[in-house]
Amino acid sequence: MNIIVIGPQGSGKGTQADLIGPKIGAAKLSTGDLFRAEIAAETPLGLRVKEILASGNLVEDELTLAIVDERLNTLASDGISSYIFDGFPRTTAQAVGLDQLLETRGQKVDAVIELTVPEDVLIERMSSRRVCSGCGANYNLAFQTTQRDDICDQCGGQLVQRPDDMPGAIRKRLQLYNDLTKPLLDFYGARGLVTTVDGNQDVERVQEAIVHALSAAAINSEA
Ligand SMILES: [Zn+2]
Repeated sequence: MNIIVIGPQGSGKGTQADLIGPKIGAAKLSTGDLFRAEIAAETPLGLRVKEILASGNLVEDELTLAIVDERLNTLASDGISSYIFDGFPRTTAQAVGLDQLLETRGQKVDAVIELTVPEDVLIERMSSRRVCSGCGANYNLAFQTTQRDDICDQCGGQLVQRPDDMPGAIRKRLQLYNDLTKPLLDFYGARGLVTTVDGNQDVERVQEAIVHALSAAAINSEA
């Protein structure tokens, strides 16, 4: 079963993809993770992606599709043929490209989960993110507190806000989501694949709602 989780940054889609994947025997394919791995390895591609992301823009469709294609090949060679996509597709062109990538493998998109969270909650969640300038540990002060304000519990380093978690950058990403990614809900909605889940509740409740939606989708795709 191939599933896409769609939602703005801060909607918890990465967390949900991590939780749901093992339950349904699907490998998570996160373009964000793949981009970060390229950046960390300082490949030519990684350097280009780093620049694009730092400016708050989306990585081009063609480049994104090439990375996904490569990842699908790697997973297939490990015998994995069920995927849960996180952060991809982000544009209609990417969705069309994904259809082609799956079709050449005799597969298709089986279900799309849309996670909705009110915009003011998203902004609060994202602007509460901090990273340790010492060890790189991530915190979200909306969900956790540290022993000392603005100090890392693990190494005593100073917690700072990343430039892309500043209000201007957050608003830019939400705008890109509304303009480019939301139209995907019509694209997949026309095929009856979309289930909307309220992402503004406990992680466990969100997970239950997604599992429920997927079992309904599994019945439909067998019928
Ligand atoms: Zn630290």
